[in-house]
Amino acid sequence: MKELICISCPRGCHLKVDEKTLSVTGNSCPRGKIYGISEVTNPVRTITSTVKISGGMLSRVSVKTDKPIAKTKIFAVMKLLNQVQLTAPVNIGDLVLENILDTDVNIVVTKKVEAKYE
Ligand code: SF4
Repeated sequence: MKELICISCPRGCHLKVDEKTLSVTGNSCPRGKIYGISEVTNPVRTITSTVKISGGMLSRVSVKTDKPIAKTKIFAVMKLLNQVQLTAPVNIGDLVLENILDTDVNIVVTKKVEAKYE
């Protein structure tokens, strides 16, 4: 039996998930059941981070995965993000990396950065 706190909404229900039968208790809505089963079968997270950017008003810009990705791939994704160097301007939603690690997940920009005028 695995005990979890559901992070699907701010209520934070305390879940108990039977890892053999995948039965979930403690959830107040169906999303908790989905989250509980996912956590014991294939836990995923949305990754948020920053990457380097040149020629803009900032030296780093925030990015995120456009879908949740397996927790086991987080370290590999962070290594990829460390190698990224963008050039301003960038806009929210701009594609940074496509289909990372063959997961069908993309990295996109989450903050607009204007080019620096000199
Ligand atoms: S089980 Fe439902 S109500 Fe409870 S934290 Fe998860 S999403 Fe929110």
